[in-house]
Amino acid sequence: MIDISKKEVWFITGSQDLYGPETLNQVAENSTIIAEKLNDSKLIPVNIIFKPTVKSSEEIYETLTAANQEKNCIGIITWMHTFSPAKMWIRGLTVLQKPMLHLHTQFNRDIPWGTIDMDFMNLNQSAHGDREFGFMVSRLRKNRKVVVGHWSADSVQKKIGDWTRVAAGWDDWQGAKFARFGDNMRFVAVTDGDKVEAETIFGFSVNTYAVGDLVAVINSISGDAINSLIKEYEASYHMADSLLEGGKDRQSLIESARIELGLEKFLVDGNFKGFSDTFEDLHGIKQLPGIAVQRLMQKGYGFAGEGDWKTAALTRAMKVMGSGLEGGNAFMEDYTYHLDPIEPRILGSHMLEVDPVLASNKPTCEIHPLSIGGKADPVRLIFNGRAGTSLVASLMDFGNRFRLLINKTIGEKIVEDLPNLPVARVIWKPLPDFETACSAWILGGGAHHTCYSENISVEQMEDFAEMANIEALVIDEDTTIRNFKMAIRTNEAFYK
Ligand code: MN
Repeated sequence: MIDISKKEVWFITGSQDLYGPETLNQVAENSTIIAEKLNDSKLIPVNIIFKPTVKSSEEIYETLTAANQEKNCIGIITWMHTFSPAKMWIRGLTVLQKPMLHLHTQFNRDIPWGTIDMDFMNLNQSAHGDREFGFMVSRLRKNRKVVVGHWSADSVQKKIGDWTRVAAGWDDWQGAKFARFGDNMRFVAVTDGDKVEAETIFGFSVNTYAVGDLVAVINSISGDAINSLIKEYEASYHMADSLLEGGKDRQSLIESARIELGLEKFLVDGNFKGFSDTFEDLHGIKQLPGIAVQRLMQKGYGFAGEGDWKTAALTRAMKVMGSGLEGGNAFMEDYTYHLDPIEPRILGSHMLEVDPVLASNKPTCEIHPLSIGGKADPVRLIFNGRAGTSLVASLMDFGNRFRLLINKTIGEKIVEDLPNLPVARVIWKPLPDFETACSAWILGGGAHHTCYSENISVEQMEDFAEMANIEALVIDEDTTIRNFKMAIRTNEAFYK
């Protein structure tokens, strides 16, 4: 359900009329080559669309307002091949609503030492043209990404590509709808927040839907559809014996499939990108949705448990950002600790809803009792997470601002059997070390719910926070508690 390949980023080159047609033709030719090469780059997952050179306030305004209007345009790249006096950019930049990347590059990589003359100098002016442009963007206090280096370099194209993924995640939020079945889990603080402010800042809406309306859809699912989904389960997972045809829990599997099909139909019919539910409000649903939610998350829906709409939305955006890459982005909860003094670790999981995008092995499909909620035993998928670099990110409402908290982590291969643990799980070590990371997370007011990512960088999450114009705090290999506290204090003043 997620496809960012049709999205566009417009490549806009700035100049001015002063140079005359010969130079401007050369500017247009060179810009076309750069835009084409970026478009062809395997490191950039979206289309890079060349736009004719802008040379006046009017052309700039028209191009940037057109970018605002174009549905597929998720952002713009600007570059000043020559000098482009930046007062010309004020009107356009003031109304620009799409994310911007300022590519500080030059058409020629090397100075042609033996032949360089004033014609070369006048054509290759981005060294000072981009500074003039940069001043104006800073003067207007606009957030943007700056990428520096020759456009042909893989490292530059990778940075551009990573940023277009972030822009795609941001674009996905604009007008997105998230469904909430029931309210927040009673008395829980960190997962709640201001949905009006969230819609204003982030662009997505969160609205509640009656569980009874969902139950009506679940009950409308046909037996044929259920049978074919059960065949899919049997082909995809190691099935517990009791769930097989004739087994004592077969009826529970049928119920699970009915719930999955009903939930999916509800989400598809309402054009939702994600949802949340709560075990405290499931009237008419026989089990807390387990395998249903797991498989819908794997398909690309954002989800978080207990009414946590912020983590559901964040997980959806991160799934978009990481689409097509190895590894996954998944709803996660810091569940329990291994407090070994040498190798302390965190076991991440949830009651049921762990996303199979993280599975290192073919999941088993099992049924076990759930100790809370008072419902029938739910069916769930059980698997182990993978080893590798990762991060956790969490979004909190601090009253006067949203805070995105990011912690770099290292996923570990699970070698123990865990025969009595009936949920999927992931084990990781947080950076810089367990003690510092957990202290900082708690001082930063970080939630127990996160999105765990195996393919998004801290830099991308920081860029995402800048697009949203919200606070970002990072816990990584450079973090000390003293500096982290200082960042919190500084931000308290900044956001006052
Ligand atoms: Mn939870």
